[in-house]
Amino acid sequence: MTISNHVDRKDSDRLGREMHVFAAELYPICRSITGNGIRQTLATIGERVPLRMVEVPSGTPVFDWTVPKEWNINDGYIADQSGHRVVDFRRCNLHVVNYSVPVCKKMSFDELRNHLFTIPEHPDWIPYRTSYYKEDWGLCLSHNQMESLDHGAEYEVCIDSSLSDGSLSYGECYLPGETPAEILISCHACHPSLANDNLSGVTVATFLAGVLSRLDLRYSYRFLFVPGTIGAITWLARNQKHVDRICHGLVLTCLGDAGRFHYKKSRRGDAEVDRAAAVVLKHETDSAEVLEFSPYGYDERQYCSPGFNLSVGCLMRSVWGTFPEYHTSADNLEFIRPERLAESLRVCLSIVDVLENNRRYRNLNPFCEPQLGRRNLYSSTSGSHTLGEEINARLWVLNLSDGEHTLLDISERSGMPFPVIRDAAHLLRDSGLLSTIKDSPVVRPDGSNSSTTRYSAALESGSI
Ligand code: ZN
Repeated sequence: MTISNHVDRKDSDRLGREMHVFAAELYPICRSITGNGIRQTLATIGERVPLRMVEVPSGTPVFDWTVPKEWNINDGYIADQSGHRVVDFRRCNLHVVNYSVPVCKKMSFDELRNHLFTIPEHPDWIPYRTSYYKEDWGLCLSHNQMESLDHGAEYEVCIDSSLSDGSLSYGECYLPGETPAEILISCHACHPSLANDNLSGVTVATFLAGVLSRLDLRYSYRFLFVPGTIGAITWLARNQKHVDRICHGLVLTCLGDAGRFHYKKSRRGDAEVDRAAAVVLKHETDSAEVLEFSPYGYDERQYCSPGFNLSVGCLMRSVWGTFPEYHTSADNLEFIRPERLAESLRVCLSIVDVLENNRRYRNLNPFCEPQLGRRNLYSSTSGSHTLGEEINARLWVLNLSDGEHTLLDISERSGMPFPVIRDAAHLLRDSGLLSTIKDSPVVRPDGSNSSTTRYSAALESGSI
């Protein structure tokens, strides 16, 4: 199964446009970590992929945290004395600080000023602010808007929101494969009208699930659409007994902008997914950067907390916080481009392709090189003066297929792209020169997570 070929470059223009349209459909929804915005978002994702929606009641303890009260909002504004709305939530949902408690009163500009947020260095942009775990209220507006207010006047402030017992919602899309061993794909779906930091990850994950749902796969796949931090913590608390089946994982975010790719390694640092991502980015993208793990960022923080230590990394284009549009109204639908979304999907499929096809083989003619010419395996397609890439790949695969090295090992050591090594291995296998090692490890037994290693051993022995 060569997964990356399922989206060829001809398709990618159409797919990119379709992905952007999907992001645009979700963009106006006022999401938060709980409430109807995230429910509506999950329902929209569920129209494209099979999605199970889960509701966890407010007050439920989840490790050291508690599922918060549910927040919903109808309206919010600042009106001048004539009743004219000078700031209006209905025009942009970033105007109200996410999780603001309700308020409706008249106040002087000086009193109001303590509750206003702007970005003086980008005077036309509206900032995105939240107050999830402290009951407070506030309004966000462009600096120019604030400057245009009458600093001596009285204003009417109204936030028509509710904060009450309800539930936290998340969505789970499970695609069963040949083995119960799982690949986890997670993204946060809790930001309101923000495109790169939020909707690009949601969009790439949704389309990735769509492509994979049509294929026969070796691994099972679990896609999580969760509110950031509290959603991942809630999912882990409810699924603690089952996480051993997760062999590899990716957190997807910030995948629609024009920046180069970044991959943040898992806490383990040498997990198979870390190496797969590095090989794909090296050969398929320009000047991508692989970053070491750090305990801050997106939900890889929870999956890589020491009690779990899952092999989960984070794939991004521009890194959060490093682009000025981050957490502002400028992170909009123009900031994410169709071709960037499609390229990000292709990179994800290539990483999946490595994980799906990373096996060990045994050379059945290990004493000196087998005679490839006799088998029509020595004709180079790239001219007679140099050893063609295809033949070189065959020699690498034959030499390192001693039953120990995986195809990923061979790709890394030869410096050749994984698909070239994979195709060489398949050809040599079909020519009777290699045998597939059954029960290839799906987890590198590095001993750093004993429960996961036990799972791997059980899988290899066929007891699962
Ligand atoms: Zn964010």
